[in-house]
Amino acid sequence: MKSFTLLNSVSFSGIGLHSGLHANVTINPSPHNSGIIFKRVDKNVVIPAKWDHVISTKFSTNIGKNEIEVKTVEHLLSALAGLHINNCEILIDNCEVPILDGSSKIFVESILRAGLKEQSLSQNILEIKRPVRFECNYGFAEFIPNELSQEGLNIDLESSFEGKYKDQTIEVKNLNGNYIDSIAQARTFGFFHEIEYMKSQNLIKGGSLENAIVIKDKKPLNKEGLRYENELMRHKVLDVVGDLYLSGYPIIGTYRGFKTGHFITNNLLKELFKSEDNYSIHQIN
Ligand SMILES: [Zn+2]
Repeated sequence: MKSFTLLNSVSFSGIGLHSGLHANVTINPSPHNSGIIFKRVDKNVVIPAKWDHVISTKFSTNIGKNEIEVKTVEHLLSALAGLHINNCEILIDNCEVPILDGSSKIFVESILRAGLKEQSLSQNILEIKRPVRFECNYGFAEFIPNELSQEGLNIDLESSFEGKYKDQTIEVKNLNGNYIDSIAQARTFGFFHEIEYMKSQNLIKGGSLENAIVIKDKKPLNKEGLRYENELMRHKVLDVVGDLYLSGYPIIGTYRGFKTGHFITNNLLKELFKSEDNYSIHQIN
């Protein structure tokens, strides 16, 4: 697969889900081998979109350098992963990526309107070679090598919403090519009583029914309903795709998890990179 960047720059603006602060974001094309980087233009600090720059995974995935951070990078990175963009520069003038509608739909549509540019050299991919697992007291995630060599990233998730919503599983085979239709529109979600508590603690300052599904008594409060019957699970896949892109590569392998979130996925990447025997980095046609 060739490397991709954007044909033209694209801009977004809006408030952050957690900070409530307004930010302007511009994504610029960049040359082969530059990777994906965030630049806080108000602080003149460059932060690579890499797993080892993650400074917090509480409620969102936040990267940082020298005390300067960019919060909630996962939905934008998910869009870039879904579109196979591996080189671009993301300029941002505040501390949090806008939540927009709570999914990656607007990122995907705007980038597609700006156009993708195929670059002359191939991009590296990371292929899982050995099982790798991370578990904590409430859940786990693991990578397993794919049995079929032609498959890309497979994702199998099992939820447990502890009575707040019906438990579901989701199995996505070979995500490449499926992302735009089946994943990108799935919005972030929360449970009414937990949201009330978080708001009282001065968290999720930007959250509203405009940018999140709110579940009360096992049903969405949003009057338009759900975009997919299993939208919550699809959003979990969207988050996994974004968090895994912090590996710096598209991944060939199977990700399986129970009650996964930003903390578990980031720790799985840390386990993965502990041994070079766990993976190989190469190019595919
Ligand atoms: Zn999310």
